[in-house]
Amino acid sequence: MQTILVTGGAGYIGSHTCVELLEKNYEVIVIDNLINSSKESLNRVKKITGKSITFYEKDILDKDALDKIFNDHKIDAVIHFAGLKAVGESTQIPLTYYHNNLTGTLILLQAMQQASVFNLVFSSSATVYGEVNQAPYTEDMPLSATNPYGLTKVMIEQFLQDTYESHNYWNISILRYFNPVGAHKSGLIGEDPNGIPNNLMPYVSQVAVGKLKQLKVFGGDYPTIDGTGVRDYIHVTDLALGHIKALEKIASQTQTSIEAYNLGTGNGSSVLEVVNAFKEASSKDIPYDIVDRRPGDLAIAYANAGKAKAQLGWEANQTLKDMCQDTWNWQTNNPNGYR
Ligand code: NAD
Ligand code: UDP
Repeated sequence: MQTILVTGGAGYIGSHTCVELLEKNYEVIVIDNLINSSKESLNRVKKITGKSITFYEKDILDKDALDKIFNDHKIDAVIHFAGLKAVGESTQIPLTYYHNNLTGTLILLQAMQQASVFNLVFSSSATVYGEVNQAPYTEDMPLSATNPYGLTKVMIEQFLQDTYESHNYWNISILRYFNPVGAHKSGLIGEDPNGIPNNLMPYVSQVAVGKLKQLKVFGGDYPTIDGTGVRDYIHVTDLALGHIKALEKIASQTQTSIEAYNLGTGNGSSVLEVVNAFKEASSKDIPYDIVDRRPGDLAIAYANAGKAKAQLGWEANQTLKDMCQDTWNWQTNNPNGYR
């Protein structure tokens, strides 16, 4: 069976992907410095699957640590989640973001090259479609960024393109996630944000459980169905399964390639639609107030998910209701996250 190195595997999407990898009998090795996660997530992954993970509490900026991992294990492919991801914070500490995300990825690519491991699945984001394109987004649209976090994704995609063009023994899948939400059905793993959440779903969930008083809906005058912003929410387990499909394609194809895929449902939901779906799933009231738009927010963002379906045989199956139910199950079972 194949051995997969998962960078950032203790995090939200990484831990859900580890579950799906183990369920499919991949050997899993995780490197994570736990800057935005807890080792407990990996204990829970073991509990869900009954299988073990080799864990290195190390930084991807540490080339010696990476070299040792590549020396000590025969790694078939890398899934690269490790990175800092808060848009607002990236405008406060851009150099930290550039160093961690860009330098970290360069060091990882160098270690892979040295170890002759050329199969890579990379976590990109719908943020690379920037402000100029109109939804639904297709993978061939021009990329741009409006903040340092987004720029790290645009730049890493370019690094990967250049790397592939220089040595086409690389085999690279770039996955552009839309809005990952929800939690594993078991309620044992989920999103565990530090402090007050920036993102809609964890915020709504904390209002429902009574930790936060009310939701601020950022903008009620967008040209959308009810005036609130529209996004393509995708269940984190569907997203995790997209990584398995990407690995399978890399392993099965006779010619190497670099391809980008949107991982979204192809449908948009407004903020108020999410609030209503969550109300139903939790049977709790979710008080909200419509306030000014959040600077930098788009009115509408959703995927054309056709390429992933055609080339990876992947599509999202879970509904907004599933996403809200599973978030609520995780929230009520773990009111303080992993702490
Ligand atoms: P997360 O913060 O939960 O996971 C990232 C993990 O990487 C964390 O466990 C963190 O401790 C680790 N990490 C960060 N820097 C590291 C370093 N230098 N060395 C080792 N480990 C390091 O975030 P997530 O939501 O699971 O996101 C995973 C990836 O997906 C990120 O690259 C993120 O940018 C991307 N992404 C996330 C979203 C989203 O909304 N969650 C959307 C699009 C793309
Ligand atoms: N949003 C909101 N209140 C919040 C957080 C988010 O109204 O407290 C809105 C936001 O304006 C956007 C949608 O919810 O329209 C999704 O925002 P999120 O931050 O979750 O994702 P992203 O901005 O990355 O799409």
